Amino acid sequence: MSTRTRRLAEYRRKRDFKRTREPEGGRRKKSTRLAYVIQKHDASRLHYDLRLELDGVMKSWAVPKGPSLDPSVKRLAIHVEDHPIEYNRFEGTIPEGEYGGGTVMIWDQGTYTSAGDAEDPQAALREGYERGDFKFVLRGKRLKGSWVLVRTRTRGDRSRQGQWLLIKHRDEHADPDLDPTAEHRTSSQSGRTMEEIAQGRPAKRPRKR
Ligand code: MN
Repeated sequence: MSTRTRRLAEYRRKRDFKRTREPEGGRRKKSTRLAYVIQKHDASRLHYDLRLELDGVMKSWAVPKGPSLDPSVKRLAIHVEDHPIEYNRFEGTIPEGEYGGGTVMIWDQGTYTSAGDAEDPQAALREGYERGDFKFVLRGKRLKGSWVLVRTRTRGDRSRQGQWLLIKHRDEHADPDLDPTAEHRTSSQSGRTMEEIAQGRPAKRPRKR
């Protein structure tokens, strides 16, 4: 339970928020609609960067093979440095010779939240992340449902980096027969292929409809 939730317990116990228009408090919309993005990145090796907002930054994992919808498949996910939230909108080309040089495509985007019905979703997510057993529910344009990132080992005690595994949980969005990276070969943002992004072609449809 968060400090904020604990402090409001008595206030809440005394009120029925279906009947009173007083604020319930403690449920910050911010914490239940956290940003999610996957960027397909054709750098020295093609990979998919999974980014999940936590505490004001995008926690980031490079997934060489990309996500699988098959719950029996564990995909290696290498924890990399936190990225700014604004990075979620980046699609384009990083110059050759620069760090991560190559083409970046916004492959999927949306929001995510904690699994279950935690009173404080952000606290539940933070706890799972710290434990190395990070369960979350995606509400992306393409990927949905329940997933987990499991830490397998760390490089040094406090870095919280190193190797994790990305696994789809069994739910209605699991599908062992569908390979999402083969199914979706264009940007979820601009509709462009990697080649079209590399060439700097314009978006195929308006960003907002
Ligand atoms: Mn990358």
